[in-house]
Amino acid sequence: MRVTVIGCSGSFPGPDSPASSYLIEADGFSLLLDIGNGAIGSLQRFHGVLDIDAICISHLHPDHCLDLTVYWIARTYCPDGPAPRIPVYGPRGTAEHMIKAYELEPNPEMTDTFDFRPLEPGPMRIGPFTVTTALMNHPVEAYGLRIEHGGSALTYSGDTGHSDELVRLARGSDLFLCEAAFADRPGLPPDMHLTGREAGEHAERAEVGRLVLTHLLPWNDPSQTLSEAKDSGYRGPIELAEVGAVYDL
Ligand SMILES: [Zn+2]
Ligand SMILES: [Zn+2]
Repeated sequence: MRVTVIGCSGSFPGPDSPASSYLIEADGFSLLLDIGNGAIGSLQRFHGVLDIDAICISHLHPDHCLDLTVYWIARTYCPDGPAPRIPVYGPRGTAEHMIKAYELEPNPEMTDTFDFRPLEPGPMRIGPFTVTTALMNHPVEAYGLRIEHGGSALTYSGDTGHSDELVRLARGSDLFLCEAAFADRPGLPPDMHLTGREAGEHAERAEVGRLVLTHLLPWNDPSQTLSEAKDSGYRGPIELAEVGAVYDL
């Protein structure tokens, strides 16, 4: 399984990265995990824009889903004819949310291109991957996802505050893409996001093989986020997500 970081900026795009998006590939199948603002531009640096077989949306905040609207254009109106219909997994109401964001008629415009399917807690099969989801600690219906293939596992936190569910989901993963949106300071809102230190604590409890800090906010100092995580007690390798970084699991 190959993981490529397409976008890792948190909450809004930064100067060097779109918002959240990760490409997961195995056995010729390409799964896009989140499709935040700017993801479709960045994707074209690393992959054929139409060569996506399925999309998973962790939650319906715009920095995780909004480029699906423009991706509908790319797949529907490409000069060679419409690209094949693909499944789009997301929380309840994903189709209605996206259709409204584009000001389309409810049927059939977007559903001709995307086969919307609900994400629910528990395991499912997407292409060659076993995908297990769990509800995270965020103000909206938000999922963390564990993706397994060929004996390797990736866990992606999506957006979450402190979460024992995330520790359970990530248990023993080879790669843990964990959000670290907050810089540590007094008065942070609860049940929203993690700091670098908290991401490291979740990684240590889950005994993951490698921690990659992501959902990095443009106004934070990434070196502070990294040093917070390094002070967390997590003993494995830690790094900051970067657009174009590739992990072969
Ligand atoms: Zn977010
Ligand atoms: Zn969010």
